[in-house]
Amino acid sequence: MRMSQMYLPTLKETPADAEVTSHKLMLRAGMIRKLGSGIYTYLPLGYKAISNLEEIIKEELNKKGAQELLLPALQPASLWEESGRLENYGPELMRLEDRHAREFCLGPTHEEVITDLVRDEVRSYKELPLNLYQIQTKYRDEVRPRFGVLRGREFIMKDAYSFDADEKGLNESYQQMYDAYCNIFSRCGLEYRPVLADTGTIGGDDSHEFMVLADAGEDIVVYCEECDYAANLELATADSKVIAQDEEAKELKVVDTPEVSTIEDLVTELDLAAHKMIKAVLYQVDEEPVLALVRGDYEINEVKLGNILDVVNLELAAEEVYQKLDTVKGFTGPVKLEEIKIVADELVMEMSNAVSGANKLDQHYLNVNPGRDFKVTTVADIREVKVGEDCIQCGSQLKQTRGIEVGQVFKLGTKYSKALEATFLDQNGKPQPLVMGCYGIGVSRTIAAAIEQNHDEYGIKWPKALAPYNVELLVLGSGEVMEQAEEFYQQLKEEGIEVLLDDRAERAGVKFNDADLIGAPIRVTIGARSLADGKVEVKLRQTGEEFKVEVEEFLAKIE
Ligand code: ATP
Ligand code: MG
Ligand code: MG
Ligand code: MG
Repeated sequence: MRMSQMYLPTLKETPADAEVTSHKLMLRAGMIRKLGSGIYTYLPLGYKAISNLEEIIKEELNKKGAQELLLPALQPASLWEESGRLENYGPELMRLEDRHAREFCLGPTHEEVITDLVRDEVRSYKELPLNLYQIQTKYRDEVRPRFGVLRGREFIMKDAYSFDADEKGLNESYQQMYDAYCNIFSRCGLEYRPVLADTGTIGGDDSHEFMVLADAGEDIVVYCEECDYAANLELATADSKVIAQDEEAKELKVVDTPEVSTIEDLVTELDLAAHKMIKAVLYQVDEEPVLALVRGDYEINEVKLGNILDVVNLELAAEEVYQKLDTVKGFTGPVKLEEIKIVADELVMEMSNAVSGANKLDQHYLNVNPGRDFKVTTVADIREVKVGEDCIQCGSQLKQTRGIEVGQVFKLGTKYSKALEATFLDQNGKPQPLVMGCYGIGVSRTIAAAIEQNHDEYGIKWPKALAPYNVELLVLGSGEVMEQAEEFYQQLKEEGIEVLLDDRAERAGVKFNDADLIGAPIRVTIGARSLADGKVEVKLRQTGEEFKVEVEEFLAKIE
């Protein structure tokens, strides 16, 4: 591309409303322009970087047998009602009406649409596994759109969905995608780390986020240097409270620790009120009441809970938690765990032995076991783990670093296939719900993340694979100098190398500054003085290394 003809509005000054480096540099380098809050245009230079990333993503996903398609961004609200997310997704969902007052939304993600597609088409286990993906514009009405394309309201995402016949198949599909993501981010030249993650509004069981390590990151990653544990702090905090597994659960007993003698203290002490999805569940094991912390709304509703004496939603402030306990059990005054035990015993006595109380008054579940049907931990266990500080695998002290979430993979299981009745016929001809996974990459965000990791005070230092242009020919002069530059330009183009020719009638200073800003990995300066010696000057943007190359050897050296 000739810079004299390119639509490349670079800026000398840093725009005032840009806080983080990638946002500043993307504006200054003429990669993006803002249309409205969280809404950006990708200019030719920016879009080239996006396209490079998309190519890498497609290659790696295609290698794993995934197939590209394109789903509509405009989605009927009725479909979201079917999955239950029309309400659950909350205000982040961009909602609109058509002229007939029918409700729609602009897709923030596509689990509903893809499930709707396959439920009508996939009939037999023979058609599985299946993995479909798209690269598309997503819409999310973020509370705080910021940092340029790192958190937009309209952004580009690659989303993939896998369909399997069973859990084993899902695990394989998940691993394939996990591996593909490692390949993608490695090829992009990014320093990244896959970490255990919470599943948020998408739902499901296991999940990993892919974090690009950078100070501008909004997420905090905790990791252990002694073992392989790494997690989003959000999850590590929740997990360290829910550590007891099935067999252990049966032996758990409430231990009255002197430090925490009331539920209220417990809530304050562990800062539980801040964790919306956690509920304190008081229930019974072997005649003993146990305080369990259960994560996730659906876990409570979907699994059959047993022997539940009470469930306190910790979304409430500590004060309200206390009041709620009060009204449910008729407590007065501060609640000691001992007292809870007594009242709990009484409550159980009132219930028939075979019936378990659920998380709503007058609702009961049958044939369920705590520990088997949900995870539990006791007050004693909670005390032992310093929330988010100790590794839950080996107990060593965790380290923290900041990360930008560039991708996330989820084992969805049957959440959407059950809700939308997407079934297939198994080997015995019996209908079964499809077992799903979903896998996202923030395409536009990844480009910004790459810049966060690769820049200096002068501009971007593109990793080779993402660079919009790999070589910039910086021409200082006209006549013979320009002729030589033109010759290189043609040669490089013939070799299939993306090359930018700075043929503008600008001062040398302007050209050098723009070259640093735009950040092509290889800069070749063609000036009269070195050309008289039959040479041109090469500078590598990543390392700053400079050397001269004979004109005759140019192509060989550049490649
Ligand atoms: P975040 O925690 O940053 O809000 P998310 O967990 O809500 O992200 P996912 O639903 O996992 O996002 O979507 C898949 C990917 O899409 C994310 O890993 C991220 O890279 C990208 N992404 C999500 N929201 C945005 C946004 N507002 N702007 C740009 N990219 C985004
Ligand atoms: Mg989000
Ligand atoms: Mg997230
Ligand atoms: Mg996510």
